[in-house]
Formats: sequence, structure tokens, C-alpha cells
Amino acid sequence: MHDTPASPPDFTSWSSFPFEGDLRVKQLDDPVPVEPLRKGEGHRECTACAAPDDAYIWVGERWRVRAMDRPTGLPMVLILESRSHLDLGDLPNLLAAELGVMTVRLEKAIRSLDGVARVHVNRWGDGSAHLHMWFLARPYGRLQLRGTFLSLWDSILPPISEQQWRENLAMVAAWLAEFGGRPLAEPPRIQWQAPSSIGAQTPGSSANLGEEDAGGVIEAAEEIPEPDDADPDRAAGAPERG
Ligand SMILES: [Zn+2]
Repeated sequence: MHDTPASPPDFTSWSSFPFEGDLRVKQLDDPVPVEPLRKGEGHRECTACAAPDDAYIWVGERWRVRAMDRPTGLPMVLILESRSHLDLGDLPNLLAAELGVMTVRLEKAIRSLDGVARVHVNRWGDGSAHLHMWFLARPYGRLQLRGTFLSLWDSILPPISEQQWRENLAMVAAWLAEFGGRPLAEPPRIQWQAPSSIGAQTPGSSANLGEEDAGGVIEAAEEIPEPDDADPDRAAGAPERG
């Protein structure tokens, strides 16, 4: 048993840290000798391999891009996935090169949305063995959202409107399609009736990936430790970023 420090670390006093008040550091569990299987390992089903193309906002020959199943606090949260069932370090050179190109395109597309200052790009991989990269848009001017805690703020901020979310998804999908592949997110239909009906339309089937993948980077099932699993420490792969 390793004792954790009695007093919280300095970052709890940063303006970007989402919580205040008296905090205690959790006691760390003993390390497990054998880690539990991630999704897509051993007998565990791979959510990505099982998902049809129409669950994505854009699909190409070797890559797919998906959104959460509903709007969240950040203007855009997207996941880039390889079609092949591979982990990051196992990518052959072709896919490794394409990952670079896709990362650049997606960052640029998301950063071009209205009100987006920066795009954080993350790969944790503790929940699923199928390679997936997270793209999180930080709203312009929200200086407290800079850095490490952006993924937490995504769950704390009120969700953006359904209308705005669908417009953003369609913009990114259309941008990616400029270079190839197939856009599957469509812009929301304009409601010509009363303005109050805007955003009230039923969500379409695209950009939904089923109940299992809930909205938001924190709630996403594949990054959530299951009750009986040892806690995968998501933050382990996320050192402080400036
Ligand atoms: Zn897979």
C-alpha cells in the first residue's frame, strides 16, 4: 500500500481546475498482477468493429470519424478510428502516415468552426484496443478551459444546442469529404415555421452510435471502468498540457 500525499497537489488551485472546496486525495488501490481485457481483446466484443458506417459522420476506405450520441458542453467532440482492428503502436506505415494526415485535416476542420479556439487531440486507449483518437474543441475566450481539464469541462458545461451541434458535424464531415470518403452527417433541416421549433427536430440516425456510447468524453463507455474492473487511470496518459 502506497500512501498518497495528504494535501492536494498544486493543480487543484489552478483556475482551470473545475472543482473547489475541500478535497482529499484518494487512496490508490494495489496494482493488479494482470490487467483486465479491453474492448476488442480476447473474448470482449469490439464496439468499433461492430458499428455500421451509418453510425459515423464520415467514412473513408481505412478511417472513420464519429461523434457522441448527443450534444455535449464543448462545441465539438469527435473520435477518429481506423477501420482495422489495431492499436496505435501496431499501425503499419501506410496507416501511420494516414493517421498524421487525418489528424491534421480534422484539427483544421474543427478549428475552423465558429467559436473554436483550439483543438485538443488525445489518445488514451485504456478502454478499447481498437485505435481511436479524441478531438476536443475548446471554445474561444474560455481561458479556464485551457489544458488538462478540458475533457472534464465537456461534462460540466451545459450542452450546446442540437441545431448548432448538427451544423458543426455537417461542416466537419463536408470538409473531410473534400479530400475523399463519404460524409454522413447532414446539416439540420431549416424549420420555416416558428423560430421556437428550431432545434426541435428528431435526431437522425447518422452520428448516433447507440446507447452504449453515451455523450461526452468522460461518459463514453469505452473509457469508463466497469464496476468489476480495476480502475484504468485515464489521466495516466494525459500529462499536464499547456
Ligand atoms: Zn475492432
